[in-house]
Amino acid sequence: MSTVIVVGEVDGNEIKNISQQVAAVASGMGNVVGIVIGNNVSEAAMKLATSKIIIADDERLEHYDPVKFTSVVSQIVKQVSASKVLIGATNMGKDLGPRLAAELEWGYLGDCLEAGNDGFVRPNFAGKILAKSNPNGPVVASIRNNAYPAGESWSGSVENFAGNIPESNLNTSTIENVGAGTVELTEANIVVSGGRGLESSENYDSHIRPLAEAMGAAAGASRAIVDAGWVPHSHQVGQTGKTVTPDLYLAIGISGAIQHLGGMSGSKFIVAINKDAEAPIFKVADYGIVGDLFEIVPVLKSKL
Ligand SMILES: Cc1cc2nc3c(=O)[nH]c(=O)nc-3n(C[C@H](O)[C@H](O)[C@H](O)COP(=O)(O)OP(=O)(O)OC[C@H]3O[C@@H](n4cnc5c(N)ncnc54)[C@H](O)[C@@H]3O)c2cc1C
Repeated sequence: MSTVIVVGEVDGNEIKNISQQVAAVASGMGNVVGIVIGNNVSEAAMKLATSKIIIADDERLEHYDPVKFTSVVSQIVKQVSASKVLIGATNMGKDLGPRLAAELEWGYLGDCLEAGNDGFVRPNFAGKILAKSNPNGPVVASIRNNAYPAGESWSGSVENFAGNIPESNLNTSTIENVGAGTVELTEANIVVSGGRGLESSENYDSHIRPLAEAMGAAAGASRAIVDAGWVPHSHQVGQTGKTVTPDLYLAIGISGAIQHLGGMSGSKFIVAINKDAEAPIFKVADYGIVGDLFEIVPVLKSKL
């Protein structure tokens, strides 16, 4: 049976939900070895839903460093003779995955919606087509958030990483949360996004951010308002922004241009608020509210 590595990510004392989802996918693909890298991550690492866990816990691994993390994972790949590495399509996963594939001279499949021994399914052309790839060699794949339910933690064997941590000329001096609130867009279960219908950055701050906060959601945006300088690019959802697949996506004052849909139409449940009943966003919405957002959002906020 082949060995599949799952690279888990930690959030405080917990394993990120997306990593548990990846662990669940991997469980049907062979012997699964989980890897958790960081500083003081041992307690959280034990919760990764894989039968074997290798923990690289070291102060030199406090922050994500592509050189060190790529080296640690590739050393473990060789140690356990793995033929697949799965990782969440998070900020880290999207950076580490291709680097790892290059280092190992493996293939890379990004943003997969399905993964299994019979192939990997991923969207192409802004989600217009789904392509199935069945690689005939070893592969690194990143898996999109919410593509699978999370695996449950269970006790398995735990080992400490015994390899080398290389020097890196990268140095993290500041970590600034430029977030869309406290939740990272690509990992959020709920995303509340605003568009040009909000008319100003002040209205984005007074309508979208508090609503997102009240719902424990990440705040997203259309490109129109990113280009207008109302919010940073880190908030942008769409073809040239982030791809999100939350349980609930709220599109407020967003027309639903194809480039926006490309980044959010995979959401499980879409609710749109728009005063134009003909707006294309309603074609993908499960629920549509035709009306003035300046009347609807305050009511929604007060109810929440
Ligand atoms: C190469 C390329 C890449 C692109 N990438 C992206 C991308 O990644 N993400 C992205 O979003 N766009 C992208 N775009 C831009 C995209 O084509 C649209 O221009 C953009 O999504 C429009 O943003 P919007 O919906 O906020 O604005 P608009 O299209 O102007 O829509 C505003 C909506 O608000 C509604 N509205 C107005 N007032 C109210 C009110 N009071 N109450 C309720 N509703 C109201 C209007 O009816 C309208 O539907 C890209 C374009 C190109 C060419």
